[in-house]
Amino acid sequence: MITLINPPGIKTFSGLQMHTPNPPLGLAYIAAAVRGAGFDYQVIDATGLALDAVSPYPDRPDFMVQGLTPDEIVGKIYPDSRVIGMTCMFSTLWPLTNRLAHSIREKFPEALLVLGGEHGTAVPEHVLGTSPFDVVVLGEGEETFIDLLRAQQDGRPLGEVKGIAFRRGGHAVSNGLSTRRRDVDAIPLPDWDRFPIEEYIKRHQTNGINLGRSMPILGTRGCPFQCTFCSNPGMWTQRWIARNPVALANEMDLYVRKYGVTNFDFQDLTAIVKRQWIVDFCRELIARDLNITWQMPSGTRAEVFDAEVADLLYRSGCRALAFAPESGSPMILRAVKKQVDLDHMLDAMRAAVKRGLKLSCFIVIGFPDDTPATLRRTLRLIRRMALLGVWDVAVSKFVPYPGSALFKRLQSEGKLELDDRFFVSPMDFYTAQAPSYANAVSTQRLYWTMLWMFVNFYVLSFALRPWRMIRTLTRAVLTGTEESRYAKWFVDIFYTRRRWRKIASEAAP
Ligand code: SF4
Repeated sequence: MITLINPPGIKTFSGLQMHTPNPPLGLAYIAAAVRGAGFDYQVIDATGLALDAVSPYPDRPDFMVQGLTPDEIVGKIYPDSRVIGMTCMFSTLWPLTNRLAHSIREKFPEALLVLGGEHGTAVPEHVLGTSPFDVVVLGEGEETFIDLLRAQQDGRPLGEVKGIAFRRGGHAVSNGLSTRRRDVDAIPLPDWDRFPIEEYIKRHQTNGINLGRSMPILGTRGCPFQCTFCSNPGMWTQRWIARNPVALANEMDLYVRKYGVTNFDFQDLTAIVKRQWIVDFCRELIARDLNITWQMPSGTRAEVFDAEVADLLYRSGCRALAFAPESGSPMILRAVKKQVDLDHMLDAMRAAVKRGLKLSCFIVIGFPDDTPATLRRTLRLIRRMALLGVWDVAVSKFVPYPGSALFKRLQSEGKLELDDRFFVSPMDFYTAQAPSYANAVSTQRLYWTMLWMFVNFYVLSFALRPWRMIRTLTRAVLTGTEESRYAKWFVDIFYTRRRWRKIASEAAP
């Protein structure tokens, strides 16, 4: 028996927006691969099975653990499980995942414990050195995990499995990343039947703005860029591979019929890279007339974005997307290898807003090379975005994501200590707690700069388009609809947070 576990998630009260766990898309793909290979398996989605259950998070009163407790999870594992695989997509979840792994190891001393996801890929030696995991699957996991299961079944040595790290003689050994799959259309669709997907859908527990019954979906894999603050090049290499637009639309059609879905949240690192691909995909959706909306909440590149692409996106049902200029300083953009042409990006913003797309922009401040002067340029960019009519801005403080080039630089400079506090620190990037990694900007100054940027953007936006904001907030209050990020914050602060505080206080020992 193979057991796949999605560990409990974290809900936060700190910061401007509550963090909330999403359906585990990566694990649903792994489950489909295991099913396709003919293995007996069970899935324990410890978050999805108990979305209304919270327990205190150790040492952080502003965090809650959402989902089943470790005892409940261990109690659900079939006694004949010989391989137990867990996912950890975000390093913030590593302390909880590690604690759960210890509980599992106590009850299942002989099982092979396997970790997949971005965290293990980023710091495999740390995982193998500080946890009971026996194997870490590196990078794209479907084929590697099946190879590993077959090797284990046949009694072959782990050294023969490409794409894993494991312990040998007390040391971590890595076989290196496996080759990325090019035939992405042959990858089986996520096995949502084994997950409580309806529970996520009806609570709108997904990462986009609330446009109705939503499912996560993936149209492309990887990203061709190499930003030094991003962990994705280490996970996916620089290969961007898109699915066949018809196959992608087929999957959407399936979920509309099967789950009554009306909106899709694309989880792609960057869906828009090749103009022809996005044009073909939009045309396919327009021809099918599925009566759905879709959005790209994680952001996309803007190189090939223009008025025609904006129009096709809108006509195909896309209502919200995000660009990530990150900084208004060309010097910083060069330093972090963002490869953004700000003038073109401003044109793309103009085209998106003009066509009625709800556009958010991501800004990061406090890169190691940021200075008060570079932050002033970023502030100027933020004001221009407000003038253009961009709907939202998300200004967050830089945190070194494990596996990124900047993480490695700061680690080699002795500035990072890989403890539980560090791993959950990205949860704090909207708060005064997250430290500044910019040599020329103090933590306090960075925090106030972040707030000042938010104030500039939203006050200017309100002054220029008061009715847009009033309409959006009124709809949020009356119907709970979150048409923009500020509507989502509003609903969070005035409704969702209260409800969760009540649940948390009832759960407190
Ligand atoms: S930040 Fe975005 S564009 Fe840069 S490497 Fe990561 S996913 Fe690609």
